[in-house]
Amino acid sequence: MYDFVIIGAGVIGTNIARELSRYQTKAIVLEKENDVANVQSLANSAIIHAGHNPEPGSLKARLNIWGNELYDELEKELDIPLLRSGAYVVAHNESEEKQLEHYLQISLQNKVPGAKIISAEEARITEPNLALSITKVLTLPTTKVTYPWEVAFACMENAMKNGVEFRKNALVTKLEQKDDHYLVTINNKDRIETKNIINATGVATDDIAALLDSSVEFKITPRKGEYFVLDKHMKGFVNHVLYPLPTEAGKGVLLTPQVHGEILVGPNSVFVEDKYRTDVSFEGLAYVKANAGLLAEGVPFHKIIRSFAGIRSTSNYHDFYIQESKEHKGFFHLGGIESPGLSAAPAIAKYLLSDVIGIDSLYPKNETFDPFRKKQPEFHSLSLAEKQHLIEAYPTYGNIICKCEQITEKEIVDAIHAPLGSHTIKGIKKRTRAGAGLCQGGYCEEKVMKLIARETGVSPLSIAYDSDDSSLFEEETKVEE
Ligand SMILES: Cc1cc2nc3c(=O)[nH]c(=O)nc-3n(C[C@H](O)[C@H](O)[C@H](O)COP(=O)(O)OP(=O)(O)OC[C@H]3O[C@@H](n4cnc5c(N)ncnc54)[C@H](O)[C@@H]3O)c2cc1C
Repeated sequence: MYDFVIIGAGVIGTNIARELSRYQTKAIVLEKENDVANVQSLANSAIIHAGHNPEPGSLKARLNIWGNELYDELEKELDIPLLRSGAYVVAHNESEEKQLEHYLQISLQNKVPGAKIISAEEARITEPNLALSITKVLTLPTTKVTYPWEVAFACMENAMKNGVEFRKNALVTKLEQKDDHYLVTINNKDRIETKNIINATGVATDDIAALLDSSVEFKITPRKGEYFVLDKHMKGFVNHVLYPLPTEAGKGVLLTPQVHGEILVGPNSVFVEDKYRTDVSFEGLAYVKANAGLLAEGVPFHKIIRSFAGIRSTSNYHDFYIQESKEHKGFFHLGGIESPGLSAAPAIAKYLLSDVIGIDSLYPKNETFDPFRKKQPEFHSLSLAEKQHLIEAYPTYGNIICKCEQITEKEIVDAIHAPLGSHTIKGIKKRTRAGAGLCQGGYCEEKVMKLIARETGVSPLSIAYDSDDSSLFEEETKVEE
């Protein structure tokens, strides 16, 4: 019998798993995908917002500001990357300057450190490509950028180290109450028993809630956001996150420097029917292009290396819905965790456990909890002497597999065999960045595929790109006699 089953391994479920591992509980995370952070937590802007637009007094505001602070702790304990970029919200004319003043007041009410309005001339000292039409900016120095997938990965890895179990390819298909506990059916066949269920399923939270509850207080209406990625050689084109003024549809099309040097351009905001369809459209990307031009002069669209889309879990509740079910004790929902969900994730986990569950009065502390997780060294970022030293100890550090990102055979093999390792091309890309550079895997994907096949002892024909049914090949066409 588990104390807690957490459904969903995005940034929310994995942060909760790590917080739970501070206590003596038996807990498991169930994820329908073959990896952590494959849905919203994979495809977003990666910004740890300062908190200039959530409604003062809302949970979104409170947990955004607290979460932003907690990222400094995560950086130290879990070795996650943080780019302390700061942000500028821009205004182009008098009417927009009035709105900027309004967002300054919201920032002050939300206690956003260092928020103030400065002239465009002053902003251009550090941001020379700022659009010439911009007249004033709201500066938000505590805005940061992270690598969202790694946040989830690091939290899950640390939670596992502290005793939490993880099961991938585990689609929860049925929930039942039996006496004082619950039965959770996985993939329509396996059943596990638990005292509590935490529903952290992002866009599916209303569907999962409805597996047990007869009435659900929030409904998810999925909203797509599309992006371009500019090659990392454009690093420095913008140094801050550049936001337009927020609208009903969200924070708008942004320019966001990323931790590895790329620049994200987007997202737009379009309500869609399908919660999981992440294709991009010509119209969507054209909108993104047109609006990016309002933030900076000469956005280098000739340096686009890819486009992608993510689906927001927007809800009609208009705030984070973090509550115990009214009908089922021990069934907890994290609904409507759209932006600033990534920013707030570590605070959401703490809030759920302390304020909603009251964990301190239920379970003793895990005295052996180890908050630290150390990332494998990134070979390309080491000094020549360090590289030589490593190659002497492990010669496969000397074999570069991904030329764009300078990722070695040793790093890829480690990612295949790690406790939270992966046997798919995309899983290796997420862990090592092999295939994330200029050629987008054109050169190295085949080499990564052969390494996975060699290390796992399976035929290259069975290696998947991403989901288990996304195999790269149908059959061999040239077979040696
Ligand atoms: C376009 C876009 C831009 C954004 N930009 C930002 C930003 O810059 N800053 C910010 O703070 N926030 C941002 N967000 C919001 C942020 O990404 C989300 O709030 C956050 O990722 C939500 O995490 P989650 O764990 O709730 O959801 P998810 O990451 O979607 O995780 C839910 C998990 O549940 C799993 N699941 C679903 N159903 C089942 C089932 N039946 N059984 C088992 N598993 C199941 C899914 O496979 C998934 O892995 C953005 C979101 C989008 C889409």
